[in-house]
Amino acid sequence: MTMSGSHQQRIDQPAQRPIRLTRRTVLRALVGAGAGVLLTACGGDDLDPFASGRQPTPPPSRAGDDAQQAEDAQAQVEQTGSQATSQVAPVVELPEPRVYVIPSPVSQGQTVLLLIEAPGAQTASMSWQGQTFSLLRNEDRFLGFFGIDANAPVGPQSLGVAVSGPGGEQLLWQQTVIEITSVEWTVDNIQIDGPNAALLEPSIRQADETTRLPFQTRLTPQLHWRGVFDPPSDGQITALYGEQRSFNGGPVAEYHTGIDFGGETGTSVRSANSGVVSWAGRTRRRGNGIIVDHGAGVFTGYYHLSEVLQTAGTVVEQGDLIARMGATGLATGPHLHWEVVVRGVTVNPLPWLRLLEFPDPYQELNPLNALTSTNLAKG
Ligand SMILES: [Zn+2]
Repeated sequence: MTMSGSHQQRIDQPAQRPIRLTRRTVLRALVGAGAGVLLTACGGDDLDPFASGRQPTPPPSRAGDDAQQAEDAQAQVEQTGSQATSQVAPVVELPEPRVYVIPSPVSQGQTVLLLIEAPGAQTASMSWQGQTFSLLRNEDRFLGFFGIDANAPVGPQSLGVAVSGPGGEQLLWQQTVIEITSVEWTVDNIQIDGPNAALLEPSIRQADETTRLPFQTRLTPQLHWRGVFDPPSDGQITALYGEQRSFNGGPVAEYHTGIDFGGETGTSVRSANSGVVSWAGRTRRRGNGIIVDHGAGVFTGYYHLSEVLQTAGTVVEQGDLIARMGATGLATGPHLHWEVVVRGVTVNPLPWLRLLEFPDPYQELNPLNALTSTNLAKG
């Protein structure tokens, strides 16, 4: 199957690292996994769904017959350009965009891939929980990642998608429903004594978050990473993501936003994948830390370090030594707190460490891989 994309200069992807998202892989996923959601475009309205505040009617559900969905997808993809969105009076006929949300349903703490096939389209965006994000374009495809908080409300949540053509005309807008399922996170009581107890003060936690926020929420419109992420340390995992934490016998105050690796002070900490250092600094709560921007709204953070060995703006490759383990900030002993942030939401890092848990956007984007994992959320 050949790509039929335009030869326009791509401004949003580095030429040396094209994203090869093939229709075939998407279809294979749908056929094999039986768990993706195939959404149909509703079209036919030229209002901007995100600017106007209007609530479009979601398309009818097609859940429950994935094999049929796959056949439908195959049939529609093999039609070449015959599905024009005539009601928006396009200058040229364009095929109807197709939208994939992977996986679906999605559980608390998961990363979600939104993939849109839209030949001829110029821009695409998504609206999720009050925020609108641009999607990254690669020829005929647009993609974006977003995260589900560990304590996100379960049940149906609305996702808006908009696609525009070269003249700014609306090719697609729709709102659909993503089902978020719950995870039974463990609850742990942590005893913090001595001087560290003062660091439990909410204002100190807030100051930490305020300091780091700008450096892990921006959108770099490229994918710097390749393949699966590597563990940032050889140490054993000592605490998992999502654990609900109470301190000193109090009520649950927060959840564990990453995973912890044990080790001695001075143990090497390596960049989990390629990227650019967006922040290197210190807060009272997290101690010494470093954040790496992997592009597409995906960041990794490394905390409680004894030493930070890179500075902001430095390009790092996967496996590069970036820091050394320590016990700075609110830590009961030397360890590495490592977290993955996707569009500002801390997500379960474990799926990012395993090829079979997460699609590789370059080589084998096979959304099936995101669907066949065992649920690691509980460890
Ligand atoms: Zn931790």
